[in-house]
Order: sequence, then C-alpha cells, then structure tokens
Amino acid sequence: MPTESGQEVSELSDADLAPAIDALTSASSVTVLCHLQPDADTIGSGLALAIALDRRNVPVQVSFAEPAILPDSLQTLPGGDFLVAPDEVADEVDLLVTVDCGSVGRLGRLRDRLDGARRTVVVDHHRSNTCFGEINVVDAAAESTASVIARLLDLMGAEIDKDVAHCLYAGLVTDTGSFRWVRPGTHALAERLLETGIDGGRIARALLDTHPFGWLPMLSRVLGSAELVQECAQGRGLVYAVVERSDVGDLRSEEVESVIDIVRTTSDAEVAAVFKEMPDGDATDGPLWSVSLRSKDSVDVSAVAAQLGGGGHRFAAGYTTRGPIAELVSALTDALD
Ligand code: 5GP
Ligand code: MN
Repeated sequence: MPTESGQEVSELSDADLAPAIDALTSASSVTVLCHLQPDADTIGSGLALAIALDRRNVPVQVSFAEPAILPDSLQTLPGGDFLVAPDEVADEVDLLVTVDCGSVGRLGRLRDRLDGARRTVVVDHHRSNTCFGEINVVDAAAESTASVIARLLDLMGAEIDKDVAHCLYAGLVTDTGSFRWVRPGTHALAERLLETGIDGGRIARALLDTHPFGWLPMLSRVLGSAELVQECAQGRGLVYAVVERSDVGDLRSEEVESVIDIVRTTSDAEVAAVFKEMPDGDATDGPLWSVSLRSKDSVDVSAVAAQLGGGGHRFAAGYTTRGPIAELVSALTDALD
C-alpha cells in the first residue's frame, strides 16, 4: 500500500540493516511469512527473498494464513514453488522473516511460528509497525516492502535477476498505485528492475487492470449505493460503499479490492471507506467485515484504523470488525470526529 512518504528518504542507514543481513546470511533454514489476505507487496517480497535464499542453498518456506488459495493475479509471480499451506509450515526454524506485516495479528494463525524460531526478522514499511521481531527492519519512508527487500538483497550480495525483479516490481507497482505515490529513488529502482528484461506493462496489467465482465455490474451495484457523509471528519467528509457477499458472487478478491480505488477519488470527501463482507462460517455475532480506509492529505487514517483495532499507513489503512453495517458506520464516523 502507498506510504505517506512524500519526499522522505529512507529512515534506515546500512548500519541499521546489518543485524538483519547477519541473520539472513547465517541462517540454516528460513520461514518467510506474508500477511493475511495477501497482496502483491507481501507475496512479491516473500518470494523474492525466498528465491535469493534458495540460491544460497538455504531451505526456505513461504506461507500466509488465509485464504486457502493464493489470489489468482499473484499466481503468475516466479517462486511460487516456495509457497506452502499453513499446516505445512515447520514448527521450528532457524530464522523466521515476516514481510509487510505491521503487527502479529497480520500473521493470523501462523503467529505461533514466531515461538518456534531461533531468530526473527520483521521487514516492513508500516509506520504503525509494532516491532514484534527480535530484529526489526521497518522503513516507514519506503514506498513498498519490496523496496526494503531490494536493499537487503543488495547488502546480502544476492543477484536481482529477472525472476527476483518480477517479484519486486509486483510489490513496487501496486504499493505505489502505479507510480502515483512515489519518492526520490522509486523510479530508479523501477528502472533497475525493468533493465533485467521484465515486462512491466504486462505485470501491471495482470495485477491491476484485469477483471472479468462480472466486475462491471458489481461496481454498478456497489457504487450506486455509495453514501457521502459531508459533516464527518470535521466537515471534510466521508464517502463509503459496502460490498456484501451477495454483491461478490464468484468474483475474486481482486474485484472487491478494486472498489476502494474508485471510491477514494471522490473530491467531496477527504476520507473514503469500503466495507467488505468476508466469507465467514461463524456469524453468530454479526457478519465479519474487512474495512479499507483512504485519505487524501489531512486525516491520518492509520490512527483511525488503530482506534478500531487495525493499522496501516497515514493515507491507506484498514481494520477487521464484526457487526451490523449501521453500527460499523457509526463507529467509524465517531472515530473520525
Ligand atoms: P487495504 O485497504 O488495501 O486492505 O489495506 C490498506 C492497508 O491497511 C494495508 O497495507 C494494511 O497496512 C492495513 N490494513 C488493512 N486491513 C488491516 C487489518 O485488518 N489490520 C491491520 N492491522 N491493518 C490492516
Ligand atoms: Mn506494502
């Protein structure tokens, strides 16, 4: 996801990265954990690191807790062979690395693997990161976790070839919103990755611009019922839309995740929210919702999300909650006031 980086440069010096480099270059086995409901930044970062470690002949597993299957659009990334189901993740490992996870909650049921790891390294770019690792490489100025991984790979002396570049570019292009949220160095990294011969246009299209026809009627229903709450956030406005399971049918997570990118363009509102109903077997205390928040420039939605049990970046954050939608909207408007 986009950072609030603006013109910031990295917050970390090479010396700050030394403990992580030592852990990565001396590990005898590695588990790489990505976040729940994975996106291209967490999977691209995880697979790039796995490819590099495998080349050092280090046994490596990559996993994420949910959902059971990797989102369709991410299946094209190189290194998919390193992915294993949560149950197959070793209980004990020499080094566990988390990528793009701001808190242990983002590991879901795989969080218990932290206990079986001799060492842990957290690699991330969320300012809200709770630094739950033994070694924490958290660069809140980085536009993507993939950018932090690129730096680590360079310091490890690992080659960034076409396969690794493909994985890193996937994280970079998605978390920068197709190079809209950038900082000095973003395009230099993109250029370096493109020089390996990857097809940037094709990668971006697969990840961001490919939807089945059923996406269009879904958008029509969901956007048609969007609401503008002008008085919210001290008059700066909230726009929100709700995606119920019945709107989704057999569409993929990619279609659902695309909605916020349209809703957030509303010029009447500083804050945008999309409530996404999650598939959930146990709904006795109300449906489960994953909520996406975005802001333009004056509201820190990571603080709002944190208040509601989640986290994220200043201008892109989220949380997971349960209950009837009317209550959730009023909890959100309260948190914004
Ligand atoms: P998205 O709206 O794309 O799902 O998420 C935007 C950002 O919000 C993510 O990069 C992540 O940092 C954060 N986020 C989204 N959902 C949750 C959540 O349930 N818990 C936490 N802690 N952060 C979340
Ligand atoms: Mn990210």
